Amino acid sequence: MQHLWIATQNPKKKAELLRLLEPLGVQIHTLAERPGIDWVEDAEDFAGNAEIKAFALARSFGPDEDDHWALGDDSGLAVDALGGRPGVRSARYAGPDATDEDRVEKLLDELATLGAGEPGETDRGARFVCHLSLAGVDGETGEPRSLWTTERTCEGEILPSPRGEGGFGYDPVFLPCESDGPSETRSFAELTPSEKDAISHRGRALRDLVHHIQNAR
Ligand code: IMP
Repeated sequence: MQHLWIATQNPKKKAELLRLLEPLGVQIHTLAERPGIDWVEDAEDFAGNAEIKAFALARSFGPDEDDHWALGDDSGLAVDALGGRPGVRSARYAGPDATDEDRVEKLLDELATLGAGEPGETDRGARFVCHLSLAGVDGETGEPRSLWTTERTCEGEILPSPRGEGGFGYDPVFLPCESDGPSETRSFAELTPSEKDAISHRGRALRDLVHHIQNAR
C-alpha cells in the first residue's frame, strides 16, 4: 500500500484534503504523526511554496519508506483590483496572529478604499488558486524529488460583506462565478462541503491528483 503524507498546518484545509483524497485508496498520514516538521514559506509563487512544503515532509522519509509520497498544497486568493494580492501571502495578509475574520475585514477595507464597485463589476473579480506538489525521495541521492504538480483555479468575485458559516478563510466573501458554469448566488461559505469541492480550486487540483495516481498504477 502506498503512503501519502499531507503537508498542511491548517486544520480546515486538512479536512478538505482528507475528504477529497478518500477515493484514492492509499494510506493518508498527517503532520500530527511526525511532529516537529517545519518550513518557511518564502517562495514568490504558489508553486515554490507547495514544493517547499512537500520537500520538508519528504526529507523526513527513511530509507525503507520508498513507497511514501509527500503532498504540498499552497493556495490563496488573488484579487484583480489589488494586482493579485493577497496571493501567496493570503494566510499572512493581516499579520501573523490575525484571524480569518481579520483577513476578510482587511480585504473589504482595502477594496472600499479603492472605491471598488458593486457586485458584478470587473474590479471585484478574484480567483482562488491551488497548487499541488507531489514529492518523493530520489533512490540514489536520498534527496527529495518532485514527482508531479498541478495548479487549478476557481473564478469569482468579492462580495461586499461576509455571508455563510461554512468553509474557512475568505470563503464568506467569495462568490464563485465562472463564465462556463452555473450562475451561483451563494458564497463559498454558504455551499455544502461537497458543493464547494465540486467547483473549488482545491477540489479541481485534487481530482487531477487522484486521476494522475490512478493512471500511474
Ligand atoms: P496556505 O496554508 O499557506 O496555503 O494558506 C492559504 C490561505 O489562503 C488560507 O489561510 C486562506 O486564508 C486562503 N485560502 C486558501 N484556500 C482557501 C479556500 O478554499 N477558502 C478560503 N480561503 C482559502
